Amino acid sequence: MTRDATCPTCTSTDLLRVELKPQDTPMMFNTCRECENTWWDAVDASIDLTDVLEVLS
Ligand SMILES: [Zn+2]
Repeated sequence: MTRDATCPTCTSTDLLRVELKPQDTPMMFNTCRECENTWWDAVDASIDLTDVLEVLS
């Protein structure tokens, strides 16, 4: 398996995943239904996620 969609906090797989494209950069916004943790995933692994998040914040 690659890029397993599990919550990094509680390891639940019950996630709400939405693909968004800020700056035309496809990214996955994840919400865990178990612990309400939220986080971003880069859809393309070559994207430097840190740079994108700095712009968004
Ligand atoms: Zn969780």
